Amino acid sequence: MNKTKVRFYRGTHGMGIVISVTNGTDRVIFDFGAPFTPLAQVYDGTVLPRNVNRVKDAILLERIPAVEGVFSRKDLQDLPVISYEESSLNTAVMICHLHLDHMSEIDKIAPEIPVYIHEEGLKLLNALQEVNEEKAYRSYSSFRYHETFKVGQISVTPYFSDHPCPGSAGFLIETADSTIYYSGDIRFHGLDSKKALAELDVLAQKHIDLLIVDATTTSPSEFTGEIITEKDIYDDIYDHLNHSASLGIFNQYNRDVAMMQHMNDLGKRLGRTVVWEPEYAYILKRMTGIKVPVYWIESQHIPECLVNMKNDHEVISVKDIRNHPEKYLIQNSYGNLLSLSDFDGLPGEYFHLFGEPLVKGQKDYQIMVNVVKKLNWIFNTYTNLYSFSHRYPEHLRNMIEKINAVTVVAVHSKHPENLDPVNSMQFFPEENQDYILENGILKQ
Ligand SMILES: [Zn+2]
Repeated sequence: MNKTKVRFYRGTHGMGIVISVTNGTDRVIFDFGAPFTPLAQVYDGTVLPRNVNRVKDAILLERIPAVEGVFSRKDLQDLPVISYEESSLNTAVMICHLHLDHMSEIDKIAPEIPVYIHEEGLKLLNALQEVNEEKAYRSYSSFRYHETFKVGQISVTPYFSDHPCPGSAGFLIETADSTIYYSGDIRFHGLDSKKALAELDVLAQKHIDLLIVDATTTSPSEFTGEIITEKDIYDDIYDHLNHSASLGIFNQYNRDVAMMQHMNDLGKRLGRTVVWEPEYAYILKRMTGIKVPVYWIESQHIPECLVNMKNDHEVISVKDIRNHPEKYLIQNSYGNLLSLSDFDGLPGEYFHLFGEPLVKGQKDYQIMVNVVKKLNWIFNTYTNLYSFSHRYPEHLRNMIEKINAVTVVAVHSKHPENLDPVNSMQFFPEENQDYILENGILKQ
């Protein structure tokens, strides 16, 4: 019988995950994203990717590891990496959700290799391609929660995980001799935490040998220590804006569709119209069918493909908002920051809800804060992106205890040594090294 092999290409000391599980000639790879390192980012908006050489450049820049049998020879050019054509492996790639540290490099995979994304995630990816935010270099396959599919002899079953991105999933991998669970990114303090906790009860029955777990909050630089739920945030915004004469402004990420819906609902509770940039309104319509008002400002950047949204969406003008700031809650993304100058002189409260710029301490984050202060508005934000999007240490212990795997490996954390493995045995793999998994033990 073939033994199951596991290899951690990337993710044992931070974000950007690439892990393979191989049995015989069948192989699954989880995630295919570049590390999230704002200060070491080459493509900073001034340096632009070169399309024809994008695969070779990504490998040279170490945005993606040189995984054998994944890239086409023509894309590798002269790089000494075994290409898809030269490899005998039967490979499929699973993506846990559409945040960039998990999927930014999927367009570089040879088109013959299936790349699986949850059907809701795929819908979002298509919408992002339609608004020119993602490029359509290749096609993708979809999966649904709890529906098992096969990669040769390997079975893959996706489970629901509560992360802000639509279709977020963890994967149960069953080979002839082993059972592995890769959690993807997950939290248990979002509005869907009950559903996420119910999945743990199912997984607890599976006799998992190896648990590969998102351990972001074990890193003190990322976890603020503040325990705040998603609901706490919406309630706080409500308290700030209820009976307030101020204009409300918020900045969130356009891939976090559930949050977009919650902000729309919050507007209703407040009796305020939530007004969206055309790109966000387009994504909301495609994902949920909800048609929301858009704002149209001369200084705002509007992609060509969205210009005709003026005709079939309610348009709110600067004048409307200036006349009654207390009736509006407007979404603003960083690229359109200066369009907020049209509301100077009005009282305002700005809520930074984990949109770009993502992390405090970056130059662009400070520019955003400076502009809000220049307008004499109140700047509000909550915890940080890492704490908001990942499970708190107590929830992490609870998950490890319930799943009760023989071995646990922490990924997506700068400090995996801080993990409390509870009843499992923690293993610290070297990157780019094959391990055999036997009775739940990883060995070289
Ligand atoms: Zn992540």
